[in-house]
Amino acid sequence: MRALALYSGGLDSLLAIKIMMSNGIEVIPISFVTPFYSPDIDYGSKILGVPVISIDITEEFISVLLSPPHGYGKNMNPCIDCHALMIRKAKDLLDEYNAKFIITGEVLGERPMSQNKWALKEVERSAGAEGLVVRPLSGALLPPTIPEEMGWIKREWLYDISGRKRSRQFELARLFGIEEYKTPAGGCLLTDIQFSKRLKFLIGIKGRPTREEFELLRIGRHFYIDGSWFLIGRNERENKLLRNSKIWRYMFFTIDYPGPTGIIVEGELIETAIRVLIRYSDAPKDTPIRVKVLRSSGESYIFESVSLDEEEIEKIRI
Ligand code: SF4
Repeated sequence: MRALALYSGGLDSLLAIKIMMSNGIEVIPISFVTPFYSPDIDYGSKILGVPVISIDITEEFISVLLSPPHGYGKNMNPCIDCHALMIRKAKDLLDEYNAKFIITGEVLGERPMSQNKWALKEVERSAGAEGLVVRPLSGALLPPTIPEEMGWIKREWLYDISGRKRSRQFELARLFGIEEYKTPAGGCLLTDIQFSKRLKFLIGIKGRPTREEFELLRIGRHFYIDGSWFLIGRNERENKLLRNSKIWRYMFFTIDYPGPTGIIVEGELIETAIRVLIRYSDAPKDTPIRVKVLRSSGESYIFESVSLDEEEIEKIRI
């Protein structure tokens, strides 16, 4: 008997998969990724002993994110609709993988908004997968599923774990020899308050941002003033990512002193952006500094300016 499993990168999904595997079910773990959430599939494949398949669902997820029928959680996390999307995608793949049902690591009551009895049922209903989702960690507390009724799995394989205490999961982790694991929901940027603030801002100015714009939210310091949105890298890795970005109008960096890379994505307020860049460079703050500016159209020029005051910078930081 074969099943697909949603692999989230956290301990619960690892355990759910391990429980079913240990009872002879052949499990194909799938990780649905977006710019906000991308589990470590190498780690998952190593622990599970089978390759985790990664599938990008960004385009569909953007529609869910912008208008989630069931609303958001504490921050910009549309968890019920996000789960429903992932389960619907998994359901659509069942035939392709010759699998019969879907496994998730959801635990009843672990997240009060998205993992209560109503929410679990609602997710299945919205996904058009009623009765097809097996939750091995809490299944003994939930109504029987089609796989149980059909005899594909046994009810006694399922656990009766509920609530936010994780002691039983840690016990199971020991049993399965899983030594290092990540916290649940860890890694989803949409649960982060600061990131959610930036995201709201971006949706506010763009309506329907593109994948590339969403991806930029993950890096750099962000600023917005009078219709101009610009970013300054915080380290070499981010500077490189900004240099490789395809959606800048202007790119700029200091010439005579080490410093970050900056890009303007929207707007024309080049002087303010340059003055912020100088603030984060190694250049002296009160003398004019040379900055090279590239335009996306190919021209370049040199601009001279001084650092902007800290107080002014804070006013425009997103
Ligand atoms: S935490 Fe993020 S990835 Fe997980 S269900 Fe919520 S929105 Fe989706």
